[in-house]
Amino acid sequence: MNSWHERDVRVIWHPCTQMKDHEIYPPIVIQKGKGVWLYDTSGKKYLDAISSWWVNIFGHTRGEIVKAISHHAKKLEHVIFSHFSHIPAIKLAERIVEKAPPGLRKVFFSDNGSTAIEVALKMSFQYHQQQGQNQKKLFVKLKDAYHGETIGALSTSDLDLYKKIFHPLLFPTLTVEGPDCFRCPYQQHRETCQAECFEKMEKTILSSHNQIAAVIIEPLVQAAAGMKIYPPLYLKKLRKITETYNIHLIADEVAVGFGRTGTFFACEQAEISPDFLCLSKGITGGFLPLGLTLTTEDIYQAFYAEYEKQKAFMHSHSYTGNPLACAAALATLDLFEKTQALRVNKEKAFFLSNKVASSGLLDLPMVGEYRQVGMIGAIELVADKKTKKPFPWQQRTGYQIYRKALELGLLLRPLGDVLYFMPPYVISPKEIEFMVDKSIEAMEKFFFS
Ligand SMILES: *Cc1c(COP(=O)(O)O)cnc(C)c1O
Repeated sequence: MNSWHERDVRVIWHPCTQMKDHEIYPPIVIQKGKGVWLYDTSGKKYLDAISSWWVNIFGHTRGEIVKAISHHAKKLEHVIFSHFSHIPAIKLAERIVEKAPPGLRKVFFSDNGSTAIEVALKMSFQYHQQQGQNQKKLFVKLKDAYHGETIGALSTSDLDLYKKIFHPLLFPTLTVEGPDCFRCPYQQHRETCQAECFEKMEKTILSSHNQIAAVIIEPLVQAAAGMKIYPPLYLKKLRKITETYNIHLIADEVAVGFGRTGTFFACEQAEISPDFLCLSKGITGGFLPLGLTLTTEDIYQAFYAEYEKQKAFMHSHSYTGNPLACAAALATLDLFEKTQALRVNKEKAFFLSNKVASSGLLDLPMVGEYRQVGMIGAIELVADKKTKKPFPWQQRTGYQIYRKALELGLLLRPLGDVLYFMPPYVISPKEIEFMVDKSIEAMEKFFFS
């Protein structure tokens, strides 16, 4: 019998991967997980510093969530969600509406982050059509935006890595140069600036608002772009101008929702309510796929009419509102209360930033910046600290450090040359120290030996 990783590459095509890399680095086959740790088939363990692609929040195989899923699986695994409903979905929608920024009152279910985005885009488009604003067809996105990889979500994304080849298939959008705080063209600092860079967005909206259906944005952190953190003031300004010009604001909190940035939703820090709020990833504690798109009563009403008017929102996925995913999400919300996660995370975030500050990490010649908001910390590597010149991408600097870190028992997954920490909230101070120390060790191993 061949080993598991040999059997893997014979039949499996992995996501976001050049499969040829496996010739040198075979896939790591994970057998079990507990807390922040993953264990492979040889017994080696890894600290999951990236929450398994940003989904896990209360640790792997968290007992309360395991129990909720197994309990509900014996009652009802799934049911059609059109005309039919079930109690976990009803309870979940009620609790999410209660937690969401004011005005978001209706919840549309789907099954991942990209679908949550697709739903918002289609609803916004159809809304304007049904309101007689037929010319409002365009979506505005930020440079380096990431909203998922299905064709619609990809159209409103901007990272060439994922979209370049598909250009001919995508619908047209407007792209605005957004905040770039590390290399701020206005020579400002994100802690004190007045979001001067918003003038680019303002210009686009003033010149094209008649054609714009919505602006889509990742609040506070452009995550896939390399954890680009920007100030809440940008969102405040964006909400104001979109309101003025009858443009929807789609807040994509797929990555930053559920406490990642310190508040339950990132929008809270800007004190804004978007017209659409898209959620997924952490919502089930990292157990099962689930997507939600929240919207307002006003938008809901634009679809509410006699059947013959043909105004309904005709969109569905087979696993819409899966009861087991909803049960996991309810258990996750319970855990926020039981563990007082937001309060405890404040202490942990503080511990992390202190640890980084005292570790010598910032003195390393290739560290351009360390930035952090809540439970997201990012290290941007540069070839030249003074000019902030990046390494040539062909060198795969981040990837090489990822390799070194794995050897040391740490799972990082750099975005290009940005290393980041986005651990499950259950990480202990000791484990935070391990995460930072091993990251430094991995960098030093790569650069200095
Ligand atoms: C991951 C992500 C998505 C896509 O979610 P999937 O479940 O991977 O389809 C959308 N938006 C943001 C901001 C994300 O980080």
